[in-house]
Amino acid sequence: MQVRHILREKGSEIVTISAEATLSEASRLLARKRIGAVIVRGEAGGLAGILSERDVVRAVAEESVGALARPVHVYMTCDVATCCEDDSVDALMEMMTRGRFRHVPVARDGSLVGIVSIGDVVKSRIDETVREAAALREYISAAG
Ligand code: AMP
Repeated sequence: MQVRHILREKGSEIVTISAEATLSEASRLLARKRIGAVIVRGEAGGLAGILSERDVVRAVAEESVGALARPVHVYMTCDVATCCEDDSVDALMEMMTRGRFRHVPVARDGSLVGIVSIGDVVKSRIDETVREAAALREYISAAG
């Protein structure tokens, strides 16, 4: 199973926000879209970073509500780990486990073509297990 199979199922929508938007605007976007992380765009529109709900929680815990009026670029992670559509889901799981993050943007030829969350990975794993169990049941009933 590869990353491309997950994107085929879930689509390629990428929710983005400007690096100059406030943390409050980013929180509203995360809540409205029911997602855990948003891609942050720089001035030229390119990838500037990623902001996840954990960053919002940390900012409010450390700086209280004042953080909500400050720009996203103060709290985002700039060094974003990405994957390719050809990567295996196993390799992606390892990347998430080692890096301790739950979201990975998918890059192709220098631009982003989707984003995969730990929830997408778990879903694909469950779907795969269900398919394998059904194939095994069919094999056993055909043999017997
Ligand atoms: P998450 O588990 O995705 O909510 O993110 C946990 C922390 O890792 C937050 O500080 C995020 O900004 C950061 N993070 C999330 N995704 C990535 C990624 N693909 N590369 C680097 N850092 C990330």
